[in-house]
Amino acid sequence: MFFHVIVTTECPLQCRYCFGEALKDTETGFRGFDLDYSLPERIDYDLDVLDRFCRRDDECVLILYGGEPLLCGDVVKQILDRVTVKHFILQTNGVLLHTLEPEYVNRFHTILVSIDGDEAVTDYYRGTGTFRKTIDNLKLITQNGFQGEIIARMTVMEQTDIHKQVTWLVENDDFPFSSVHWQLNAGFWDDFPRRAFTTWSEDGYNPGIRRLVNFWVQCMETTGTVLRLYPFLGITHSLLFGEDEALLRCGGGWINYAIQTDGHLIPCPTMWGMRDYYVGHIRHADPSKLKKVLVNEPCTTCDTYPVCGGRCLYANLTKRWSAESYRLVCGTVRNLVDAIARELPRIRRLIQCGNICLNDFDFMKYNGCEIIP
Ligand code: SF4
Ligand code: SF4
Repeated sequence: MFFHVIVTTECPLQCRYCFGEALKDTETGFRGFDLDYSLPERIDYDLDVLDRFCRRDDECVLILYGGEPLLCGDVVKQILDRVTVKHFILQTNGVLLHTLEPEYVNRFHTILVSIDGDEAVTDYYRGTGTFRKTIDNLKLITQNGFQGEIIARMTVMEQTDIHKQVTWLVENDDFPFSSVHWQLNAGFWDDFPRRAFTTWSEDGYNPGIRRLVNFWVQCMETTGTVLRLYPFLGITHSLLFGEDEALLRCGGGWINYAIQTDGHLIPCPTMWGMRDYYVGHIRHADPSKLKKVLVNEPCTTCDTYPVCGGRCLYANLTKRWSAESYRLVCGTVRNLVDAIARELPRIRRLIQCGNICLNDFDFMKYNGCEIIP
């Protein structure tokens, strides 16, 4: 099982799609949900309780998450020292990575770092100077011996040219990433009327994805490398191996839960404080017997469900975007799946010729990359 540990809800940045949207959000989309607004800002339970909970599952993976977990560096170190799990993963904005000693950084199996592309686009979304601090810290941890996977985790919306930004991340000379994941800022806020999502998704993002899939396969042909672009990796893996997922690919609500700062378990970190969906508390719960929380309509009767898995439990349950608006998001999923399916014969040929191999498409599922953007 995978668990996002919400170390703190505090964050030193004020990103447009997170802090900025929260300021404009009306909360009308939460009518009918029972919300807990009094949760502690930082972990408020005994770490021995967390350790006992994790020890009940030999396959337990903890993803340290926030807010920004490194704002509580001491708690992060205590978790690494006192809790026994199979792997630790860190999801961070990167600006405080230099504050954690190498002996701790080097114990993470994977670090997902928020970066939205080149300096201009990252600083536009995340604040001036954020890009430089993040890249300098990534260079530092690499020099200090970090050998795990570093995944550039992008949030994408209307200012993002997906082809340009992903290719920049993997090809730049300063700090080229071999692993990239992205998620659309879509369906999380009551923001559709003030967005230009329709034009951007249809005229920019969808054609950009088709070009990017072509670039990805060209890299396989010319260099024999399967770049770890997670949305492509996950879908291609399923198509190559004939997997019929039909469950959320992020794992939310069935194999990847989150632990709130008060110790309650929720289906995903975004469902923070939504009492209707609490599935237990780490004091008493058995990690392998947690109640499943699954997506409802329209996903369960959608023809793309077997490969999509439902995209996002939070968006599906809260329905903060209307059905008509959300159809555009589903259009991006279909476009992505179709673009990869069209290239599958080319990929199969490369495998048959030995340019690449099936193992190149292996990855750790549920590691914080949702696969369906
Ligand atoms: S394409 Fe849309 S409706 Fe279909 S399963 Fe995915 S999110 Fe649900
Ligand atoms: S995709 Fe949705 S349900 Fe899954 S982890 Fe992200 S916010 Fe949660």
